[in-house]
Amino acid sequence: MSKIFVKNPIIDIDGDEMARVLWSKIKTELISPFIDINLISYDLSLKNRDRFDDKITIEAANAIKKNKVGVKCATITPDYKRVKEFNLKRKYPSPNGTIRNILNGTIFREPIIIDKIPKIVNHWNQPVVIARHAFGDIYRSKEVFTKKNGKLKLVYEEQNKVKEEIEIHHFNSDGIGLAYFNNFDSIRDFAYSCFNFSMKRNFSLFLSTKNTILQKYDESFKEIFDELYLKEFKEKFEQKNIFYQHRLIDDMVACLMKWSGGFVWACKNYDGDVMSDLVAQGFGSLGLMTSVLQSPDGKTLKTEAAHGTVTSHFRQHQNGKETSTNPVASIFAWSRALKHRGTLDSNNDLIRFSDNLESYCLGVLNQGYMTKDLALMCGPSQKWVTTNEFFNIIVSKIKN
Ligand code: NAP
Ligand code: MG
Repeated sequence: MSKIFVKNPIIDIDGDEMARVLWSKIKTELISPFIDINLISYDLSLKNRDRFDDKITIEAANAIKKNKVGVKCATITPDYKRVKEFNLKRKYPSPNGTIRNILNGTIFREPIIIDKIPKIVNHWNQPVVIARHAFGDIYRSKEVFTKKNGKLKLVYEEQNKVKEEIEIHHFNSDGIGLAYFNNFDSIRDFAYSCFNFSMKRNFSLFLSTKNTILQKYDESFKEIFDELYLKEFKEKFEQKNIFYQHRLIDDMVACLMKWSGGFVWACKNYDGDVMSDLVAQGFGSLGLMTSVLQSPDGKTLKTEAAHGTVTSHFRQHQNGKETSTNPVASIFAWSRALKHRGTLDSNNDLIRFSDNLESYCLGVLNQGYMTKDLALMCGPSQKWVTTNEFFNIIVSKIKN
C-alpha cells in the first residue's frame, strides 16, 4: 500500500501524560505508515513549556496561523500542586487559552455518536455542537460589595466626558453589584466562525440570548448575527437546506431536550461554559467529545480531544500496568485535521483516508470492541479491551 502524499504541513502539538502516550501511538501506528506528510512538531509538554518560558506555545500558535492546520494533544494547565510536582519556574496559563487568543477563534465541541453505546439522553442521535463565544461578559466583569443607602451607578465616558450616567440601584440593605462588557468586533468574528462552521458541517445554526431582558446587550448579539446572515450566508445556507435562527435561551434549552440533535448552538460565554458540560454529559463520555478551534474565516483549524491528560490512567501506565484509555476523540482530532488539510489542498485521497479512519473507529466500536469507559456505559456484560488491543484492532482494519 503506497503512502498518500500531502503537499503542505500540519502543525502537530504534543502534550502530557496519558494523552501523550495515545498521541505517540496514533502517529506511529495510524498516521506515519499510511501518510507521507511533513508534521511540524511542537512539544508543549509542561516540562518543555517551562524550559522555553512558554514562548514555545506562542510559536506553536503562530505556526498554526501560518499553515492553517493544527492538531493538539491535551496538556496540563498547572495549578499550584503541579508547579511543585514539576518544579516549574512559574504557574503558566492554559496553552489552549494562549492559542485561542492568537488565532482569535471559536471553539466548537462536538460529540461522536455511536449507535451501540447508550447515551444518557437517549434520543440525541445526532451531534449537538456547542459554540462558545469565549470573550467578555462575566469573565471580564468587575464586582463590588455595596452597603445600605449606597448607590450603584453605571457611568460611561467618551474622551473623558461623561456621556451617560445611569443609577442602577439605591440600596436599602447591604448587597452586591457588577458590570461587564463585550465588543462588536468580537461578536462579529464569533458569528462568522459559527456561520462558516455550520456550512462545513451541514448543520442549521441557532443563537440563543435573553434579548427580551437585555434589549441593548443581548439584542446586539442578535442584530449582528441577523445582519451577517442576511448579507452573506442566507443564500448559501438555503442551498444546503439548512437555516439560521435566533431563539431565547429558555426556549432553546427546552428545544435541546425535545429535539434529537443535528444542529450548532451558538452560546454566549457563560451559557457556552455551562451548556458544553451539560451536553457532554448527556452524550455520555469525555472520551467521545471532540473540540475544534476555528478562525472566523473558517480557513484555520486546530483540532483536539475535549478531555484532559487522563492523569489517573497515566499513573497506572507509569507503574507498568496496561490501561484501557479511550483514544477515539484523539484519533478524530487527527482525522478532522487531515480532512481540513485535504480540503485546503484539494487532496481527495487524504479526505478519503480521513473519512475511512473515522468509519473504522465507528465500525470497531459498533462490533463491540471498546475501552472500559464505554463498556461501563453499555452494562455489566460488555467486555472491554486495553488501549494497546484497541489500537491493534484499528490498525488491522486499515490494513485490510
Ligand atoms: P481528564 O484528563 O479529562 O480526566 C478526567 C477523568 O475522565 C479521568 O480520570 C477518566 O476517568 C475520564 N477520562 C477522560 N478522558 C478519558 C479517556 N480518553 N478514556 C477514558 N477515560 C477518560 O480531566 P482532569 O483529570 O480534570 O485533568 C487532568 C489534566 O488534564 C489536568 O492537568 C488538566 O489541566 C488537563 N486538561 C487539559 C485539557 C486540554 O488540554 N484540552 C482539558 C482538560 C484538562 P476515570 O479515572 O474514572 O477512568
Ligand atoms: Mg466549564
